[in-house]
Amino acid sequence: LPNGLTQEAAGQAAARAYELDRRHVFHSWSAQKALTPMVITAAQGCYVWDGAGHRLLDFSSQLVNTNIGHQHPKVIAAIQEQAAKLCTVAPQHANDARSEAARLIAERTPGELNRVFFTNGGAEAVEHAVRMARLHTGRYKVLSRYRSYHGGTETAVNLTGDPRRWPSDHGNAGTVHFFGPFLYRSQFHASTEAEECERALAHLEQTILFEGPQTIAAIVLESIPGTAGIMVPPPGYLAGVRELCDRHGIVFIADEVMAGFGRTGKWFAIEHAPGVVPDLITFAKGVNSGYVPLGGVAISPDIAATFDDRPYPGGLTYSGHPLATAAAVATITAMAEERIVENAAEIGARVLGPGLHELARRHPSIGEVRGTGVFWALELVRDRATREPLAPYGGTSPAMTEVVAAAKEAGLLLFVNFNRLHVVPPCVIGESEAKEGLAILDQVLSLADKHTV
Ligand code: PLP
Repeated sequence: LPNGLTQEAAGQAAARAYELDRRHVFHSWSAQKALTPMVITAAQGCYVWDGAGHRLLDFSSQLVNTNIGHQHPKVIAAIQEQAAKLCTVAPQHANDARSEAARLIAERTPGELNRVFFTNGGAEAVEHAVRMARLHTGRYKVLSRYRSYHGGTETAVNLTGDPRRWPSDHGNAGTVHFFGPFLYRSQFHASTEAEECERALAHLEQTILFEGPQTIAAIVLESIPGTAGIMVPPPGYLAGVRELCDRHGIVFIADEVMAGFGRTGKWFAIEHAPGVVPDLITFAKGVNSGYVPLGGVAISPDIAATFDDRPYPGGLTYSGHPLATAAAVATITAMAEERIVENAAEIGARVLGPGLHELARRHPSIGEVRGTGVFWALELVRDRATREPLAPYGGTSPAMTEVVAAAKEAGLLLFVNFNRLHVVPPCVIGESEAKEGLAILDQVLSLADKHTV
């Protein structure tokens, strides 16, 4: 294996890991009893290995996280060097890894979002962005989209617009949901992107007016919604949201936890809407490709100034942890030096996008192909005419389970949500790996086709 283990040793370790997992580990978002988690024993670049020694092409990037690919030597070396130098510093002190990571992030965020507050992950970033917006405006309500995911902590899950919110939603905790643009399943009976954009903005404006603009602290949305289905917003939508926020003194929070740091072929997905600068950007995952937990909020000068003379009431022992921020410095530097963001854009435009559209021409189970960069979703349907999904909203179906299992059997790991297959490989993916994944998809989509009408 690429980590130097023999398959025999890895197999034994995997058997023990599995047995202990089933006895002692409590898993996220799952009924525990029936779980059969795959043990991953090694990873390299765009591949992972399971306990039986099977190599799988990782089209999931481990929850759309490892943008730089698995086991990048420069990031590993940076973590090792930092560990040897200095492992932990309380957040009130300064340290070189955190300072340098903040500089590199500030350099890449649009506009003047030049201050960075570090967290341990995406949900905490959302929690703090919302707190900053509430204190900055003196208002409480936050508007967020249906068909969105913002994290598993209390505020973040309440902002989430998918069924993961339902069990934790104890009524209105100051959050209000609205529909964003999504032409394929338009809430607005639109037939063109321009119409969808105009109507979605009118709907948002109505929501603001009926909620009372003077009560709304922030609008939070993913620049390109990820888990909810990779709906690239139509031209003008994000500019329209910016204009509504400006008009009503509302803070615009762009959640880039999944879409940021190269995934869409730009450093931040908001850059696909030129000139649009949010007030706060939340990030995590790709910032250091998940090698050590890290997230954060990039803050506008105006909001940062709110806390010039008044203390910011929030903090975390691990804010800007040296190992995590050293990994961010190495990740961002390697991404820039190796033109990894450019690679994501290029592979998306030349190989993945055309390849997935070609699959849609051959497979009636593909209702729509959406995405950009290395951020794509296939919307699977039973019926192209009615757009009836291959699994219900919030659920799964034997057809989806069969396709995903067959892909895995054939050596392809996918990110799956309801009736969607997400094609979200590391940003470093090469042409031959992309084509290998497309060929497996071609093979297993024939199974989905059998479930179409
Ligand atoms: N926001 C978005 C857009 C996400 O995709 C996610 C996770 O997938 C989160 C927030 C939550 O991040 P975390 O799981 O690191 O708390």
